[in-house]
Amino acid sequence: MKTKKLVVLGSTGSIGTQALQVAESLGIDILGISCNKNIKLLKEQIKKIKPKYVAVADEKAYSEVKSEFGAADIKIFYGEEGLKVLASLHEADMVINSISGIAGLTATLYALRAGKMLGLANKESLVVAGSLVTKTAKDFGGKILPIDSEHCAILQALRSGKRSEIKNLILTASGGPFFGMNREQLKRVTITDALNHPNWHMGKKITIDSATLLNKGFEIIEASWLFSIPIEKIKIVVHPQSVVHSLVEFKDNNVIAQLSVPDMKGVLGYVITEQMRKKAVMPELNLINSSPLEFFDVDSNTFRGIELVQFAHSRGELYLSVCNGASEELVKLFLNGQIKFTDIDEILLECLNAVTLERAEVTEDNIFWADRVGRDFIKEKMAR
Ligand code: MG
Repeated sequence: MKTKKLVVLGSTGSIGTQALQVAESLGIDILGISCNKNIKLLKEQIKKIKPKYVAVADEKAYSEVKSEFGAADIKIFYGEEGLKVLASLHEADMVINSISGIAGLTATLYALRAGKMLGLANKESLVVAGSLVTKTAKDFGGKILPIDSEHCAILQALRSGKRSEIKNLILTASGGPFFGMNREQLKRVTITDALNHPNWHMGKKITIDSATLLNKGFEIIEASWLFSIPIEKIKIVVHPQSVVHSLVEFKDNNVIAQLSVPDMKGVLGYVITEQMRKKAVMPELNLINSSPLEFFDVDSNTFRGIELVQFAHSRGELYLSVCNGASEELVKLFLNGQIKFTDIDEILLECLNAVTLERAEVTEDNIFWADRVGRDFIKEKMAR
């Protein structure tokens, strides 16, 4: 039997490095890898994996990789053209997109236009371009498997019922490091506190988004596009243990959940094997040691991220691009110590109230344009 060939975009990030480990443990070939500029790790990966194709987004980093490995039997590409080549390689059976931020949208579209099976860890693709991405998948025969623990849980739970039988999707939220705090306490948290997620080790942007619950708002949009469910039927429940990863409530009130230890390798194994459950790539769940499993309502007075995303969605799809772009700028400012933690959602609300877009059509150009509108609002406000 022919060995499956994988391309991992964003191979030096948290999901990318775990994807390489899972592929290795499943005996799957890595055909290509890409990174932005962490070439120290990229070089180690090239030496270990010996991929046929490599893409580097940053120009200086590209020159360095090219001079070291250019003579070897490896094709090395640069910038957006490089992403395009790697996302649409004829030999690739699956493309994993673990690029962080809106920068990952282009790769998503290239992979889907090439009709690929896409393991999608870049949720921004669906947040800012859900209609375009799902239409592209449909038009070109591409398929999306979500690399996000909640959505992977729903995918698994849906094996016990039809989509037409769904009453509600219930996404769990860990609540992040500040669960239980009130707004006053939240004003005083530090960068270190915010980066200290209790259950998951992830990239910095998504860790901060988990603390503000913006990530959960984005996941509602993601789930809505993945499973064709209106956002009103997607509920959130806080579950601090992160063992129940999400649930589907069916029309007869039966509820099916997926449980496991919080480990993205489990999600990656499920996606990379295309739901085949070949072998365990994460530890066993011990129910006794995991007890008790608790569930709480979201405290939306303290944590406003979910309502902010719902508000952006209510204004129109392109406003999600504004929201995401502005949030990327605000998280950078917070991590640089320039704003307080609670400024993130307060300034974001100000932005979403102030901006009026003159365009409404969801095209690739307009998505990047709306993203800039969001970023510019933040930059101009900070310059005042
Ligand atoms: Mg998630």
